[in-house]
Amino acid sequence: MIEDKNQSRTSLSSLGEFKLIEHLTGGTVIHHEDTFKGIGDDCAVLGTGDIQTLVTTDLLVEGVHFDLSYMPLKHLGYKAVMVNLSDIYAMNGIAKQITVSLAVSNRFPLEALEELYAGIHLACKAYNVDLVGGDTTSSTKGLLLSITAIGEANKNDVVFRNGAKSNDLLVVTGDLGAAYLGLQVLEREKQVFQVDPNTEHELDKYTYLVERQLKPEARKDVVKLLSDLEVKPTSMIDISDGLSSEILHLCKQSKTGCQVYEEKIPLDQEVISTCEEFNMDSTTIALSGGEDYELLFTVKQEDFPKIKANPNFSIIGHMTEDAGIVQLVTRGGQMVDIEAQGWNALE
Ligand code: ADP
Ligand code: MG
Repeated sequence: MIEDKNQSRTSLSSLGEFKLIEHLTGGTVIHHEDTFKGIGDDCAVLGTGDIQTLVTTDLLVEGVHFDLSYMPLKHLGYKAVMVNLSDIYAMNGIAKQITVSLAVSNRFPLEALEELYAGIHLACKAYNVDLVGGDTTSSTKGLLLSITAIGEANKNDVVFRNGAKSNDLLVVTGDLGAAYLGLQVLEREKQVFQVDPNTEHELDKYTYLVERQLKPEARKDVVKLLSDLEVKPTSMIDISDGLSSEILHLCKQSKTGCQVYEEKIPLDQEVISTCEEFNMDSTTIALSGGEDYELLFTVKQEDFPKIKANPNFSIIGHMTEDAGIVQLVTRGGQMVDIEAQGWNALE
């Protein structure tokens, strides 16, 4: 791809995030037998014994992933932990420790970082996780926050992205699209505020949306619930980039296709009414919105009785043998091909 070291420059945007990761890591050599699963899932899976260790990391950058004009630092700290724990739960594991690395400019007073850590500590307490290390350094501009989460699971319980089979049911937890709409509401308020700082903020109507954007909860409860129901998903991923992108990941890695039913996609009433108000299509928002931090998984048909009546779960489709072909069955019965669109695509 890089043809001439001096002349040619390949722009990163021409590759996109996933191709870039593939390009950079494609030749990775594994040296250790206990690197059970390296790059390519929600977590790396380490160890050859009965209990395996799960590791995941995420980097959040001011101005890219968060805007401090409407994201309180305490919420940012809490959310940054959730983003990582969600990846542990997506492997069907239990989160145990985190490390927190911080690059911060002089613009931030001590009190601001105390707020950030109040959120981190709160998340650790609520999710029974220990803060065990990190790194602190200066940045020339803004705040960068990187968290690594460590977890564990019995080897037999770990769920990967690649285990889905044709005819498995596709299940999603919670509801979708609210976090993205919450961001739209906050962005709109910010612009109104910039024009006239005395304008009254009208966020009451959007409480759920704003909460989903500013204080997401990772689905630790779902890991326990699945265990209580004695259901082991055949594949699982967390919804950080939007339903369509995550379905495509499951299908690509499992070498299956998928049919998703538009009418089955779970939407909160606030999502439906706000989409009407903003003249947006709620299905598009659910498919491409992102940041919901729900879990998306597949189960065998025979597990249907165990999950069908559970209010935490929505069965939204099934896997097919047409590898790579992901279709939305619309309310009108039409088949529409789904293509990847991370939440950036909506910006
Ligand atoms: P997620 O959305 O679950 O956080 P990503 O899409 O960020 O996962 O990453 C996909 C896979 O690529 C993961 O296994 C991740 O650890 C790996 N990965 C991402 N960036 C890099 C990088 N710069 N170097 C090595 N591995 C990476
Ligand atoms: Mg993930």
